Amino acid sequence: MHAALALINNASRRPGRPSARLLAVSKTRDATTIAAMAAAGQQAFGENYVQEALPKIDALRSLGLEWHLIGHLQSNKADAAARAFDWVQTVDRAKLVPALARHRPLDLPPLNVLVQVNIDDEASKHGCHPGEVEALAAAIAGAPRLRLRGLMAIPSPDPDITRRRSAFRAMSALFDTLASRYPGIDTLSMGMSEDFVEAIEEGATLVRIGSALFGARPVKQEPNA
Ligand SMILES: *Cc1c(COP(=O)(O)O)cnc(C)c1O
Repeated sequence: MHAALALINNASRRPGRPSARLLAVSKTRDATTIAAMAAAGQQAFGENYVQEALPKIDALRSLGLEWHLIGHLQSNKADAAARAFDWVQTVDRAKLVPALARHRPLDLPPLNVLVQVNIDDEASKHGCHPGEVEALAAAIAGAPRLRLRGLMAIPSPDPDITRRRSAFRAMSALFDTLASRYPGIDTLSMGMSEDFVEAIEEGATLVRIGSALFGARPVKQEPNA
């Protein structure tokens, strides 16, 4: 576990720029496993399901970890997500914005938000169309209690790495365009166990890694199920 953490952190260095951040994807892992990873120095964890995450976030509260929601967010879970998470990476429709803003508790810092983009328009059923990013970003930037931090994508797991690379490159271009409008944004979340090296080369500032860190998951899950 510690060796994988060191390897990935090492691979996340970017010449002349800050290292990409590592988000440890802890879906299906129990609180004890997460606590061990935290003891090895990992601070940020990603979960796909609000219901699965809540008891872990509760159990590990004393560790002061940073929690990211990286799975599809149903509107009826926006309340719980806004209370429990530090980041929601999967805002892909306007309806979620006021729901998250309304429920973000006043005694917590603003909720960090990424716009999820459906960059290859194929396999993934979630994420907004690239043409919708600007309007969604404006809604988030204008909402109280939310802080726009950037973009997230889950390109379809094409075995052809050059195809995935071009999806990463398209995300980078979208990110640069958005950053000229919102200079405060700093996060481009893309790349998983299989392709994080390529994602970093193409501009990822945060990679989401599960199996390469914790080992294979017991049951194969769709990233966005
Ligand atoms: C599961 C998941 C990951 C991590 O996948 P690995 O292949 O295990 O690294 C990253 N992002 C999302 C959105 C996921 O659902």
